[in-house]
Amino acid sequence: MNPCPCGYYGDSLRSCSCPDGAVSRYQRRVSGPLMDRLDLFVDVPRVEFNELTGDTTGESSATVRARVIAARERQAFRLKDSPAITNSEMGPLEVRKYCQEPLVPAAQPLLATAMEQLGMSARAFHRVLKVARTIADLADSDPIETVHLAEAIQYRRRGAD
Ligand SMILES: [Zn+2]
Repeated sequence: MNPCPCGYYGDSLRSCSCPDGAVSRYQRRVSGPLMDRLDLFVDVPRVEFNELTGDTTGESSATVRARVIAARERQAFRLKDSPAITNSEMGPLEVRKYCQEPLVPAAQPLLATAMEQLGMSARAFHRVLKVARTIADLADSDPIETVHLAEAIQYRRRGAD
């Protein structure tokens, strides 16, 4: 979705021309129950032409693909006795066993603060934990560390919040 009616809210080069209140009104139109069904919110900033055409130093698609395949295999193995195949399909029992139990104790205060500050529903809470599980899987980690949880929480934030 666009960040606002004119499309430039948060842009690095052009300023948003929407009147006061229009941005939050626009973002509120996407209802809470719909927001709850989304796993990731990511701000995608403008990319300059020379960044797209210059030498890239990022990982190759093949490297990323291998990591994703390995993470999917971890999930399939862990969930072999359950109807779920991927982390996103886990039910409450699996979330408890595979997300809440492996969450390191040091991450508990962050989880509590995020729930409070972001006003997360139970559904959103489970989504954050499942995304954190996937981030840990991509990092080849059985425990869910604070850094994995922090990244998952970051994907719940939205522009005008
Ligand atoms: Zn605007």
